[in-house]
Amino acid sequence: MKVIRLISPYRSTNNYLVDIGENNFIGVDIGNIDIETVLRKIGFPTGKIVAYFLTHAHADHCMGIKDVHAKFNMPIYCSESCIVEIGDSRKNFSFYSDEIKLFEYNLPFQKVEDFQEINIGGVKIKTILVPGHSQGCAAFLFNDIMFTGDFLMLNHKTPLKFPNSNLKHYKESLNKFLNLNFGIEKFYPGHGETFQQISQIKHLSVH
Ligand SMILES: [Zn+2]
Repeated sequence: MKVIRLISPYRSTNNYLVDIGENNFIGVDIGNIDIETVLRKIGFPTGKIVAYFLTHAHADHCMGIKDVHAKFNMPIYCSESCIVEIGDSRKNFSFYSDEIKLFEYNLPFQKVEDFQEINIGGVKIKTILVPGHSQGCAAFLFNDIMFTGDFLMLNHKTPLKFPNSNLKHYKESLNKFLNLNFGIEKFYPGHGETFQQISQIKHLSVH
């Protein structure tokens, strides 16, 4: 399993392609990179995206998801609240931005539950629901690497003052997360650099 990190021009969001072998890739928040670049990176048409995991529905993580879905018709896994939020331009923030087009997507999303495990091409993917930054936030453990979206980032404090943020829920999610013992090798956040340990995050305490 190899992870390709691409940084999108809009808000410098991390987009990930996970190479799971045999020319199959899983996208995590991929879609804010232009589709031609994505196709080149995976070696399309030999390479294909077989599944997509969305950490949350803020526009900088998901506005291009429709193009990726149109090309690959892959299942898109995300939380129930994420499905609601991506269908509402005020909740996905596209309503408020002049830089991007307004969108409200209603794709065939597949709802994932807390601690649900999905096996794709031999990779065990476990969902941990982490509401707080938005209600639909989820982190995804791929074998022993964790994609955290905006829930945990090394150099960026998680924004908790957005209209659909909830500080109490964030603290609960953080407590739950810190008590997991999954043996995580590496964290891949929604913005900024990857990291190995939660203890590397200097700004973790929530006030
Ligand atoms: Zn966000």
